Amino acid sequence: MSTFAGQHVTVAGLGVSGISTARALARLGAHVTVVDGGSGERQQAHAAELAGDGVDVRLGDGTILPARTELVVTSPGWRPDHPLFAAADAAGVEVVGDVEVAWRLRGAAGPPWLAVTGTNGKTTTVRMLAAILSAAGLRTAAVGNIGTPLIDEVTAEPPHDVLAVELSSYQLHWAPSLRPHSAAVLNLAPDHLDWHGSMESYAADKGRIYQGNEVACVYNVADPATETLVRKADVTEGCRAVGFTLGPPAVSQLGVVDGILVDRAFVEDRQTQAQELAGVADVDPPAPHNIANALAAAALARAYGVPAHAVRDGLRDFRPDAHRIQHAGDVAGVRYVDDSKATNTHAAEASLAAYPSVVWIAGGLAKGATFDDLVRGAAPRLRGAVLIGADRQLIAEALARHAPDVPVVDLARTDTGAMAEAVREAARLARAGDTVLMAPACASMDMFTNYNERGDAFAAAVRDLADGRAGNE
Ligand code: ADP
Repeated sequence: MSTFAGQHVTVAGLGVSGISTARALARLGAHVTVVDGGSGERQQAHAAELAGDGVDVRLGDGTILPARTELVVTSPGWRPDHPLFAAADAAGVEVVGDVEVAWRLRGAAGPPWLAVTGTNGKTTTVRMLAAILSAAGLRTAAVGNIGTPLIDEVTAEPPHDVLAVELSSYQLHWAPSLRPHSAAVLNLAPDHLDWHGSMESYAADKGRIYQGNEVACVYNVADPATETLVRKADVTEGCRAVGFTLGPPAVSQLGVVDGILVDRAFVEDRQTQAQELAGVADVDPPAPHNIANALAAAALARAYGVPAHAVRDGLRDFRPDAHRIQHAGDVAGVRYVDDSKATNTHAAEASLAAYPSVVWIAGGLAKGATFDDLVRGAAPRLRGAVLIGADRQLIAEALARHAPDVPVVDLARTDTGAMAEAVREAARLARAGDTVLMAPACASMDMFTNYNERGDAFAAAVRDLADGRAGNE
């Protein structure tokens, strides 16, 4: 019997996470009520489905705590200052997230978690980690904030040996008893500050991933804020701080020497000072930020005892997900790259740094970001820029300030068809050997349903260009 059987649980939010949590808890014998402020057609349809699973759904007002509630399980979109949580607090009812539920369900004997968070690179690193663990012959899955509901995977039959878990700052905020085997914070840059209230509380929530780590807290040597979080964490005795760096590693670090990924933290043979893991060329794509992701994945796998050859085999097996620095085609000696997933300035900075001469397609919803640092850093590599989307003016102003000689085409369009025109304009600006990089540094929802659709529009426009078609206006 699980801890949830017979409990009265209220699930906040009828989104993807709320629906899967409600179903799982009902299956476990909890009395589940879902509350949601909306009452549109979509919610009505989900409510009808969940009724079939014995879940009570209350639409139209998400602020009222149902009578007899013993636990509230919230969804990532709900801000911590939501009135429902104040009501729960007043009633002495605990509020947690789906990750906490999964962790409690896992119990003491469940698969250990190797956990990853950070502002950018989480999904990529977790997928690399799962590839490495699989190459070592372990039963594993990439889970968490990447589509597969964690609750289903912790109770999977046959059980996993170990899980590669992606955790967002929201999920960490609501996971008080989580204790990963080992964890990594990849980087920290301002993002989602509207939800967390401040950079300090965003960082503190990310830092929760290190709580109770048993073997290793993995941090980014180039991002001292991540090391600070390790120092603040309350870890299990004997747990080590392990850094990763793109330079030669010090003791207790993983790094790069002459194009080889090298481990100086988990050395098997005491005679050897360093263990070679894989070549930089084994990482796809071998861009600096992605080599950092590979090193973080390797550090977690090595903390779990995975041999060096499995790190190499896993990295060779790994292929990046779509729209993450994805090669979309070559036309007239120019390479076209889709990094639609670069939805914030920190991500765009990483991909712009990967190419020596770039025509940059940028713009969309800025989410309160400023672009001065990004543009100042990228300016020497910019052949030109093409701007689209609602907040393009902010980028145009930063370009005028920090890259006044770079030709800028401001399309002044926010319709879906603008991407085809942007690609044609970028082709005009590019010279053979350049890269046209769509790394918008902005969210996509002003023009597209999501970043996938934006990336697909770019890829289609590149295909049209290659076929010599004008493309749609
Ligand atoms: P997340 O899951 O954290 O959103 P992804 O792995 O999906 O991260 O990558 C999102 C985008 O972030 C990529 O398209 C790339 O532009 C950028 N990115 C990936 N890894 C890093 C990194 N280590 N540092 C900075 N930016 C990165």
